[in-house]
Amino acid sequence: AKQGTEADGIAFYSQDMNQGMHERMRIESGLRQALGNGELLLHYQPKFCIDDGSIIGAEALVRWQHPERGMVPPAEFIPLAEATGLVVQLGEWVLEQACAQAQAWKRAGLRPIRLAVNVSAREFTQALPARVQETLRRHGLEPQWLELEITESTLMHNIDRVIGIMDRITALGVKLSLDDFGTGYSSLSYLKRFPIDTLKIDRSFTMGIPQDTNDCAIASTIISIAQQLNHRVIAEGVETEDQLAFLKGAGCNEVQGYLYSKPLPAHEFELALRGKWRVRAA
Ligand code: C2E
Ligand code: MG
Ligand code: MG
Ligand code: MG
Repeated sequence: AKQGTEADGIAFYSQDMNQGMHERMRIESGLRQALGNGELLLHYQPKFCIDDGSIIGAEALVRWQHPERGMVPPAEFIPLAEATGLVVQLGEWVLEQACAQAQAWKRAGLRPIRLAVNVSAREFTQALPARVQETLRRHGLEPQWLELEITESTLMHNIDRVIGIMDRITALGVKLSLDDFGTGYSSLSYLKRFPIDTLKIDRSFTMGIPQDTNDCAIASTIISIAQQLNHRVIAEGVETEDQLAFLKGAGCNEVQGYLYSKPLPAHEFELALRGKWRVRAA
C-alpha cells in the first residue's frame, strides 16, 4: 500500500512539474514577444535627499503591460528571465529605454538627475562596460548621470573578474550602487575593494524601524560602514515618518519609498521633477 501511495505521489508531483514547466515556457515566450511588441515599459521611482526632500535621482523599474493579464510586476518575470538568460536582452532594452528617457528629459530642459538601472548578475559580463559606453555615446548622455544597481548575488561568483568589470564601468564615470545590501553574502573584506558609490539598505531592514531593535542596529551599522568607507547610503522602502526620522538621525543620505513616492510613469515623474506635482509636502 505504501508503494502505491508513493507512486501516486510521484505521478502527482511530475504532473505538477509539467504544469510548472508549461507555465514557465508560456511566460518565457510571452516575455520574448513582449520585448519586441512594446509591452514593456519603465516606471521611475524618485530618490530624495533626506535633508531637504528634493529629488536627486530616480530608479527605473521595468513593468510588463500584458494584453490580458494587465500590469505584471517584475517579481513574476525577472527571476524567469534570469533563469533563461532572456534577462540579457531585457537589460539591453531597459538601458536603452532609460538613456532615451534621460535624454528626452534633458532636451525638455529639466534639471539633470541621476538615473539608476537595475542590472542582474547574468548581465554583469565583460561585454557590459562597452555596451554601457556605446549606449551613453549614442544618446549623448554624460556618464555621471547613469547609475547601475547591482545586488550581492552579482558579487558571489568570480570576485576578481567582477571587480575588473566594476572598475571598467566606474572608469567610464558611471556610478555603481549595491542594492538590497545586507541580504546577500558579500563579505566585508570584499566591500572595501568594490569601487561603489552608494550602499542601498534593503527594505527588509527599513521595515523593522523603529520597533525592531535588530533592524535599527543593522540599518545604523550599514550607514556607519558606508560613511567610513566614503560611500553614500540610501534606504529603500521608507513608508513612515518614524522610519524617516530614525534614518535621518542615523546619518542616512537619501531615501526612497512610498512615504515620498511610488514608482511613477514617465510623465508623472516629469511633473514631480518640475515641482508641479508635489510628491510629498515638505
Ligand atoms: P529593487 O531594485 O530592490 O526595487 C525596489 C522594489 O521595491 C520595487 O519593486 C519598488 O517598487 C518597491 N518599493 C519601493 N518603495 C517601496 C515601499 O515603500 N514599500 C514597498 N512595499 N515596496 C517599495 P518592483 O518595481 O516590483 O521591483 C522588484 C524587483 O525587480 C527590483 O527590486 C529589482 O530587483 C527587479 N527589477 C525591477 N526592474 C528591473 C530591471 O529593469 N532589471 C532587472 N534586472 N531587475 C529589475
Ligand atoms: Mg534596485
Ligand atoms: Mg530590496
Ligand atoms: Mg533594492
